[in-house]
Amino acid sequence: MSGPDPQTVVMKFGGTSVADADQIKRAASRVAQAADQGARVVAVLSARGKTTDELVSMAYEVSGHPHPREMDMLLSTGERISCALTAMVINDLGHEAISLTGSQAGIVTDTSHTKARILDVRADRISEALDEGKVVLVAGFQGVSTDSDVTTLGRGGSDTTAVALAAALQADVCEIYTDVAGVFSADPRIVPDARKLAVVSFEEMLEMSASGAGVLQLRSVEYARNHGIPIHCRSSFDDGPGTFVQPEDQTMERPLVTAVTHSTQEARVTLTDLPDRPGTAGRVLTVLAEANVNVDMIIQNEPQREGQSADMSFTLPRDDLSVALAALEALRGELDIGEVASDSHMGKVSIVGAGMKSHPGVAARTFSVLGDAGVNIEMISTSPIKISCVIREEHVERAVRELHTAFELGEDAVRREDVAGDHRPVVS
Ligand code: ADP
Ligand code: ASP
Ligand code: MG
Repeated sequence: MSGPDPQTVVMKFGGTSVADADQIKRAASRVAQAADQGARVVAVLSARGKTTDELVSMAYEVSGHPHPREMDMLLSTGERISCALTAMVINDLGHEAISLTGSQAGIVTDTSHTKARILDVRADRISEALDEGKVVLVAGFQGVSTDSDVTTLGRGGSDTTAVALAAALQADVCEIYTDVAGVFSADPRIVPDARKLAVVSFEEMLEMSASGAGVLQLRSVEYARNHGIPIHCRSSFDDGPGTFVQPEDQTMERPLVTAVTHSTQEARVTLTDLPDRPGTAGRVLTVLAEANVNVDMIIQNEPQREGQSADMSFTLPRDDLSVALAALEALRGELDIGEVASDSHMGKVSIVGAGMKSHPGVAARTFSVLGDAGVNIEMISTSPIKISCVIREEHVERAVRELHTAFELGEDAVRREDVAGDHRPVVS
């Protein structure tokens, strides 16, 4: 008589969870424990500690504009180191472990070096190794492009590797182990009384990741939502349950505001004296898209009178500023642009909550709180469940704390799981 099918588990360990030898041993024994319990285990590893930052610095020590293909060759080494080391420990613990690069694991991407998107996961080699009873370790954050070059998936990309593998292997669980106990109502590094959220809907988590909550990479949440993969984001340092990111439970009481998120990595570009012709803004944004720059908020000031020129401002990730400026400079030959000004010290604070949809007044409250705190709002954008304000970088921490307090999100607040009755995560 055969027992129930074994569970397939994908476990991802972030950089801080494999930073030194002891932590690698701890992560490895957690993986081995899951294998001991009979699960088919795939572990995705990130580069150790600050390795990726150090590799980036190394590149800039030798080149002002590192070639993107070579950058990916360099950056992909960080996760390979973690993978091989963890495999060694798991072998010592008496399991058969095999480490694979992203390419060996069948992660196929497009050709956008340093920000590649996963196109396909050909997980046959992983499945075969699992069938042979092996524990499989996969180097996160990387793949192989349709041109057969090594690619990386953007900062934080190991989360996406884990979710993509979970989808391809139809895993029962996708666990993201990190240095905090789950997804919090604000970054716990800035707000000490931030509260761990038991459950967050995909919809809310997408807005949170897009507005700066780096605990899960945005693409990993998109991938999880598109493939219906629930994520369990939890601590690598203790065993308690973390946060389940999963489809929205329509029966649940929806909080007005779930979280305050922030980013201190924004830049703003202002173009003045643009020709007042239909299609000008489209042309500017096309050039930026072709340079693979993700523009966030956009404001265009329409001219008051015909024949006058227009102005346009937009925000973008600070890391993309030099590429964006170069692309705009190249556009000058084609478009008569007056001045291109930029400010690289911008930040953003956002509030996210599914309950906002049905409750007016949240925006008014947000602006009043920031106004009372003396924080000037430079740009605003909204979605049905998010309000974002671009503010100066130096005001970000204060703004986050003020909003977190004003919307009563702290530890002492009434918890939505306390009032929501029998609401349970769909996976445990
Ligand atoms: P890893 O190396 O495990 O991938 P990251 O540094 O990418 O870890 O993500 C974890 C960090 O995300 C936490 O240390 C925390 O400071 C930050 N963070 C930002 N916003 C949030 C949030 N809302 N909830 C939890 N962590 C957050
Ligand atoms: N090591 C990569 C980074 O630091 C990928 C990751 O950690 O997810 O961004
Ligand atoms: Mg991360």
